Amino acid sequence: MNFNNVRFERSFGTSAQLPPSTAPEVAFAGRSNVGKSSLLNKLFNRKGLAKVSQTPGKTATINFFDGDGVRFVDLPGYGYAKVSKSEKERWSELIEGYFNQDRAFALVVSLIDIRHAASDLDVNMVNFLREADLPFVVVLTKADKLSRQQQNKQKAALKRQLELGADTPLVVTSSAKGDGMDELRSIIKEAVA
Ligand code: GDP
Repeated sequence: MNFNNVRFERSFGTSAQLPPSTAPEVAFAGRSNVGKSSLLNKLFNRKGLAKVSQTPGKTATINFFDGDGVRFVDLPGYGYAKVSKSEKERWSELIEGYFNQDRAFALVVSLIDIRHAASDLDVNMVNFLREADLPFVVVLTKADKLSRQQQNKQKAALKRQLELGADTPLVVTSSAKGDGMDELRSIIKEAVA
């Protein structure tokens, strides 16, 4: 597949609106502000494809992107404290609703900020993916904010905290510098092949 040919398809505000799964799906999940939109734009070489927010906690939607027979799914960023209870409920409905459907889950990309320990919600997400036996990869974002030595230290610490086995790839990325993009693209290609 060609990562430069990915187009925005549609946004959905409830999981009931999601059309049936007709292609292998690669879903992206992570905390609000983890750098998910920036990563999508870098991965697909398109500046405005996913909206990068100045302020976290934008409206929860699931966004579908289409790329040569692969569907990319941008799940709403979770864990932003300053949103209303109803918005948090909408977030859970969307994410749980998505994963509860009968869909062609090819890969889930779980994004975590490399600078911090994983939050409870990050741990829940990884535990859920493992228990549901979904294929997933952990992507550490914003690596350019740390030195190479700190990156390695955090990578090891997060691998321990999340209890990742040798079969779960952990990719260190920077959307600002481009680090890790080729590695992530090859993992995605393999997952949808
Ligand atoms: P989202 O809420 O997960 O979609 O996160 P965004 O992509 O909107 O990014 C949140 C903030 O982090 C923005 O201010 C971005 O410019 C910044 N950011 C995202 N990725 C990187 C990165 O790789 N390096 C640095 N230094 N900043 C980043």
